[in-house]
Amino acid sequence: MSDPGPSGRFGRFGGRYVPESLITACEELEEAFRDAWDDPAFRAALSQTLELYAGRPTPVTPALRLSADLGVTLLLKREDLTHTGSHKINNVLGQALLARRMGKTRLLAETGAGQHGVATATAGALLGLGVTVFMGERDMERQQLNVFRMRLLGAEVVGVSSGSRTLKDACSEALRHWVAAADDAHYCIGSVMGPHPYPWMVREFQRVVGEEARGQCASLLPRAVPDVVVACVGGGSNAAGTFAGFVDTPARLVGVEPAGGAAVAGGEPGVLHGFHSYVLQDEDGQIQEAHSISAGLDYPGVGPEHAHLADTGRATYVSVTDDEAVAAVARLARTEGILPALESAHALAWVLKAAGTPDLPAGSTVLVTLSGRGDKDADQLARLI
Ligand SMILES: *Cc1c(COP(=O)(O)O)cnc(C)c1O
Repeated sequence: MSDPGPSGRFGRFGGRYVPESLITACEELEEAFRDAWDDPAFRAALSQTLELYAGRPTPVTPALRLSADLGVTLLLKREDLTHTGSHKINNVLGQALLARRMGKTRLLAETGAGQHGVATATAGALLGLGVTVFMGERDMERQQLNVFRMRLLGAEVVGVSSGSRTLKDACSEALRHWVAAADDAHYCIGSVMGPHPYPWMVREFQRVVGEEARGQCASLLPRAVPDVVVACVGGGSNAAGTFAGFVDTPARLVGVEPAGGAAVAGGEPGVLHGFHSYVLQDEDGQIQEAHSISAGLDYPGVGPEHAHLADTGRATYVSVTDDEAVAAVARLARTEGILPALESAHALAWVLKAAGTPDLPAGSTVLVTLSGRGDKDADQLARLI
């Protein structure tokens, strides 16, 4: 998981499939990011913001009662404890500081569940940047609290009425808007997707999750590195950040997709939103809708580096159903007093299924990244549990 170079390729995946008018904006962004990432002053400013504002480092919590039930040692990387309640803030603060360094005055963002929109609205308020968030109208109905939060934070929320009126359509609309606004606006993408340099840049901003966890595991586990490292995969940013901390260890890396949006397991290579990766599509190459209970995983593609990690076999991708994820929320809440986001519950649900099987034999040590907290899902869960 290194620098993909100017082509932005991870094996056969990635690249930069955008209209001519956005090539320059992507090139400028790549240059600015390379420059910033090599600059100790930028790194220090980001670290300080993550620490003093976002609440890093987040702990790794041993899940003691659940471990005893399952016969494995389960550790949880607690991104739910960050400011705004998910790992999204790590990437957003990085991109917002970069946008300011580039002289941009506005941030554009797409959002599905609203978590990335809330994080971007938060960073905009912190740094005095204007924020416009594109959100599918269907998601606006499903996630009214986050729409209200974004507006309260001073962001403009633009409803998108095309297509399925969800995340995929919000991404398309944000890209379209960026074409006209690139002079003063930075497009703050919320996952390891989009044209180069985004998949690489977002992974680098999320790397802090894996690097912290690596050090924390070393002091908690007799053999320093867990046997298995697990994270949920929508676009794949919390998983990419987590995996980056362990890719050079013997740990098995497992990405968990929702059964209704399993782009690695069920997709075909194709181009979506400016990058080449596994994408859910029909026989004619038309993009198919993803159908997941968790809006944050409801995306028909997957970040190109995950497609490559799957191809090379370095990481394994599995899927769990909506019901399994809901059951995992309740199980963690009752055994550990932690209410995870429905997205994060997918990672946990795989552990619940695999514990004691050859996939995760008794006595194994396993780290799960808890990408976010579950408060946002309370309404939805109330109708299900
Ligand atoms: C957005 C989100 C995800 C999915 O995004 P990735 O880029 O795959 O990490 C997962 N968990 C939470 C809590 C989210 O908000």
